Amino acid sequence: MEAGLVTIGQITAEAKCQSVARNRGHALGVWSLVTEQLYMAVCLKKCGAMAWVTRSGDEEFWRVGGTALEQACFGSRGVPGETSSPEPPNL
Ligand SMILES: [Zn+2]
Repeated sequence: MEAGLVTIGQITAEAKCQSVARNRGHALGVWSLVTEQLYMAVCLKKCGAMAWVTRSGDEEFWRVGGTALEQACFGSRGVPGETSSPEPPNL
């Protein structure tokens, strides 16, 4: 048996981005090709967040990142510039 590298395909990387972004309230649009090995998608709620998948050189796996994976979406609430509170509101 041959021990191979664990690789993340582009589709898997995009799906991971979609999943994480959705958990933060975002709704990512279509992925667009920026450069040969960089794809980006922006949040459809106009919050300004984006996600990207990229790989460098001849790497076999894709990296994911972007503000959509790090920040909560405020587009539906319309509060630009305000970051999410570290504490949940008391209801
Ligand atoms: Zn958003």
